[in-house]
Amino acid sequence: MTQNPTSAPPHAVARLRDARLARSSKPFAARGGSRRVHCAGCRLVSSHCTCALRRQRDTRAGFCLLMHDIEPLKPSNTGWLIADVVADTHAFGWARTSADPALLALLRNPQWQPCVVFPAEGLAPSRPLACHAALQPPAGGADAPRPLFVLLDGTWAEARKMFRHSPWLEHLPVLGLEGGAPSRYRLRRASQDDQWCTSEVAARCLELAGDAPTAALLNAWLGLFTERYDLARQQRAVRPDSAAQRRLAALSESASSTAPAGAATSARPPILLPEPAALAASTPGLCALAPS
Ligand SMILES: [Zn+2]
Repeated sequence: MTQNPTSAPPHAVARLRDARLARSSKPFAARGGSRRVHCAGCRLVSSHCTCALRRQRDTRAGFCLLMHDIEPLKPSNTGWLIADVVADTHAFGWARTSADPALLALLRNPQWQPCVVFPAEGLAPSRPLACHAALQPPAGGADAPRPLFVLLDGTWAEARKMFRHSPWLEHLPVLGLEGGAPSRYRLRRASQDDQWCTSEVAARCLELAGDAPTAALLNAWLGLFTERYDLARQQRAVRPDSAAQRRLAALSESASSTAPAGAATSARPPILLPEPAALAASTPGLCALAPS
């Protein structure tokens, strides 16, 4: 089912962002950023808001985002986009010393078949690997646990640290995503072209789970977000006829006969965030997992 959730409650990443902000002793600000009013629903400058175009789907696969410290606060974080599109997206802050009880309960829930998405190269021989065939929907509509993809959301160095220092993940099989197309995400500098951002990793997971339509929708959503982010950075107007917007519209309409709800906007009050320009220029590393 496809939904337009523009007036829906904040999703898991938005709630995690709010919780992280509540713990901050001072407002989060990227280095060198000026301040403009941003939409709380999509984090973009209000004039470039994408909330009315957002579509969320109920999918068989789910996502569990483990987010490093300030990752939920970064305007360029793409884990947010996964929660925009995939209804069953969970998000937790990562800590080296403990795990959220809700995270542990999620990983134990028998409805899910969790696996950690991380490069398989160099793993201990005893570490189980996720079987791609087991991610596909069972034949004949039989009951089977649903894939739950655990994504480590941070810079590449942070993701490695989270993988190595999370004993509560050690029993889970690892899903490696070697190969694939070069990343199209350009808001943060990647040290290699084949290092994907978090939403690109999620789209690949959805393909492996047999959900190519939602994978395409998520990639198109990333494309529109990137375009609007760049336009706002350059202080240029929105282009309603852009290829990114037309691609998203085509995918949204092909999945549902429900017409867009129009110019509905987030019910949440606007927020102040730093300008994306300085952030993109000053954020080293990568937001996501390298497929090695
Ligand atoms: Zn918005």
